[in-house]
Amino acid sequence: MSETNKLLRNLPKIDRVLDELQSKIDPDIPSVLIKLAVQNTIDEKRKLILAGELKSLPTDQTEWEEIFIRAITIKNSPNYQRVINATGVVVHTNLGRSLLGTDSIDALQVAGSCYTNLEYDLTTGKRGSRYSLVEDIICDLTGAEAAIVVNNNAAAVLLALNTLSFHSETIVSRGQLVEIGGSFRIPDVMARSGAQMIEVGATNITHLSDYEQAIGENTSLLLKVHTSNFRVIGFTSEVPVADMVRLGQQHGIPVMEDLGSGSLIDLSPWGLPKEPTVQEIVKDGADVVTFSGDKLLGGPQAGIIVGRKEIVNKIKKNPMNRALRIDKFTLATLETVLRSYYDMDGALRKVPTLAMLTADSETIKKKGQSVLRRLGGAKKIKTMIQLLPTESKVGGGAMPEYGLDSWALVLDPGSRSASFLEKSFRTKEIPLIGRIEDEKMVLDLRTIQEADVPILLDLLKAFIAECIH
Ligand SMILES: *Cc1c(COP(=O)(O)O)cnc(C)c1O
Repeated sequence: MSETNKLLRNLPKIDRVLDELQSKIDPDIPSVLIKLAVQNTIDEKRKLILAGELKSLPTDQTEWEEIFIRAITIKNSPNYQRVINATGVVVHTNLGRSLLGTDSIDALQVAGSCYTNLEYDLTTGKRGSRYSLVEDIICDLTGAEAAIVVNNNAAAVLLALNTLSFHSETIVSRGQLVEIGGSFRIPDVMARSGAQMIEVGATNITHLSDYEQAIGENTSLLLKVHTSNFRVIGFTSEVPVADMVRLGQQHGIPVMEDLGSGSLIDLSPWGLPKEPTVQEIVKDGADVVTFSGDKLLGGPQAGIIVGRKEIVNKIKKNPMNRALRIDKFTLATLETVLRSYYDMDGALRKVPTLAMLTADSETIKKKGQSVLRRLGGAKKIKTMIQLLPTESKVGGGAMPEYGLDSWALVLDPGSRSASFLEKSFRTKEIPLIGRIEDEKMVLDLRTIQEADVPILLDLLKAFIAECIH
């Protein structure tokens, strides 16, 4: 018999395994799940044997049991779980972008556990519109005439283009045909929306006259796109939206700006780059502006469309809107986040994204000092864990690479590698995601939440214990 056949014959039989595991497994775990986990484990081993990648099997019964119990535990654990963000990237798309404050979490609780007036007008007792729950607030804050909210900003751009430029021409600068990430590419979205893209200008320079010369009978929209995660530096120039609006008005063509991040507060007094706020773009006369709910706004995933009433009404009536509509949880949390912006100072405290972006480095340093104090002052610790200055990043949207002065706990991996350490923190029961710099593990304190600190302390204590051994 060949080696392969011998290995295959030595694979455990599923019914035997299930019998043997019965007394060793939490009776609350559904038997279907247990069976699937065991079956998958055996199937995977079989595949590896057939591919010649597995040359020996456990001979010991307890070793097999451990393998199966681990597989069952993993299958029975939630896939979607909490992590600690120690990357220092505040708007981290892969880690869920923005956190919500306590008001929003309360609203979420109500929306989930109670019936609500989602689409019910309590004054007339008739069917209402879900968008009316937030439209007035968005208009108050941005100065726009009308607003609608969809599933995300990609949807907002798609819907607006489809409504305003289906089978007609949208003029856009070559310098703004960007890919934002997560496969959102302006040319592709335009194609899917049915808008015909007319590119003008060069990668680095576009003049107002470039737009003007491209305007024809079939032009329905002038589009400006915030280049977000992409910068052209040196000899560059783009046309301010106010100038595009003047040109548009001369020809009776609306102007749209996809603003991406869409901040409602100018964060430059806190040392961040000056970005145009939504209010400013509305004031400059843009007919439609689109932006994300969960980037600098600090709310739930959503795409907000604001603009002239006549245009927003058309967008509301587009049948595609029904496929992109937001759910009750988004509405509940978006309303609370938006309400906090009536008091700008309050928003800076209450909206976690804003609080983290504007936290000064002294406060962050204190967070680190307090963690170190609570670890105890053993001399050895000081060489293994140091509190050092670092640079956090804003993350997704308008200023992804922009650095913010911060402080980090820097862990010396000692005899192991930094990547070993990074993986070991990432695979804990509550994973901690940090970054590696100069062969050290860096835990940026800016994005570590108060509620994360006790878990962080436990992880660091375990790290110290392992180092000392
Ligand atoms: C982020 C971004 C988008 C996509 O927004 P989502 O809310 O992630 O769908 C579109 N356009 C610009 C300019 C962006 O920055």
